[in-house]
Amino acid sequence: MSHPMIGLVDCNNFYVSCERVFQPRLEGVPVGVMSNNDGCVIARSSELKTLGVEMGTPAFQLQQWVNQGRIHLLSSNYELYGDMSARVREVLEEFSAGVEPYSIDEMFVRFDGFDAATTLALSRTLYRNVRQFTGIPVCVGVAPTRTLAKLANRAAKKLPEYAGVCVLHGESDETRRLLECTPLGNVWGVGRRLVERLALQGIETAWDLRCADPKTIRRRFSVTLERTARELQGTPCIDMNDTDEPRQRIMTSRSFGRLTGEMSELQEAIRQHAQRGAEKLREQASHARAVLVFLKTNRHRQDLAQYSPSIVAELTEPTDDSRPIVAAAQQALAEIYRPGYRFMKAGVMLLDLVDANREQLSLLDTPDSAADRERSERLMSTLDELNQKMGRGTVRLGVRRHDAAWQLRCAHRTPRWTTQWEELLSAKA
Ligand SMILES: [Mg+2]
Repeated sequence: MSHPMIGLVDCNNFYVSCERVFQPRLEGVPVGVMSNNDGCVIARSSELKTLGVEMGTPAFQLQQWVNQGRIHLLSSNYELYGDMSARVREVLEEFSAGVEPYSIDEMFVRFDGFDAATTLALSRTLYRNVRQFTGIPVCVGVAPTRTLAKLANRAAKKLPEYAGVCVLHGESDETRRLLECTPLGNVWGVGRRLVERLALQGIETAWDLRCADPKTIRRRFSVTLERTARELQGTPCIDMNDTDEPRQRIMTSRSFGRLTGEMSELQEAIRQHAQRGAEKLREQASHARAVLVFLKTNRHRQDLAQYSPSIVAELTEPTDDSRPIVAAAQQALAEIYRPGYRFMKAGVMLLDLVDANREQLSLLDTPDSAADRERSERLMSTLDELNQKMGRGTVRLGVRRHDAAWQLRCAHRTPRWTTQWEELLSAKA
């Protein structure tokens, strides 16, 4: 007896782990990765979390600890992270034809047709192989649905008895126990406001939601929450296209109607995805720090040459403005495009989202940049309004080829914080 299962492989403290692969002296010590432009913490090692350093902490507040050698801060290197992410994906693709990146450090993997014992053994193999072949530590959660796989992954990470690998079956005491002790806020796609409304109905844990009547949930809340409830019961009903988590990632991608190797068609697709992604950012009041662009050939067409690259471009500053986002995505596409391949799919992921309101605190703020931002906000809200009234895609942005406002490889174009940290690091090496 075998059921379709889906695995979620999540890299631990991904940006920090990437840095550690090349600088083993950073193992076991508190490490943070900084945004290059506004100088705040965007990734933390577990040791840094233990010290109580929050995401978004400005660099200058940590200066003293850095000087004392208590912590290490690195500037971000998105090029490296994009490359390591591709390597992790390649290891997983050796194992399964159904690998879908969910974000730069999380991938869904189809496990079809195995019995329970084999599923567990394969999960452990994945866990070991990714570490061994890429140097990146991961956790593996496997379950009948994406929502349960997310929960399994969380358990694999948080509960020592799982040692990084948790396989959950739809109907089991183990699944029940886990759901009973999972607050709703930790369930995939259940936001804070929803948690409060559900609490009024006496629904407080993942198990409560699983036991609620799905039709009632749909009537009182939404179809989306009904799907979540069904997924908790073990019935798959969420696919990759309706799974954005506000404030974490935004992905827009689509398969082409037919395979294409035409640069102009790819450019058009990437432009649309980037623009739609920026709209989503504005809808949820977030800014993105980086843009990931990917292309996919059809793995089932082994008669054709295979090439499924991805690359990350950093934005000069966190933004929700379609123009720099579209420009960065186009530049990234140009970087990975190779003629002679026929692509099935193209997509854009917006990474490292931050609350738009927090941006007001940016250290680089000058009256000039404030005026620019206002102008950009007015333009973008006009754009969104027109597109809402007259249909998506009514007003579109052209490609600005020579816009120098951002650069793909800008990890070395370092503002002073970064330069200082790097000096410090090399002195200690
Ligand atoms: Mg992760």
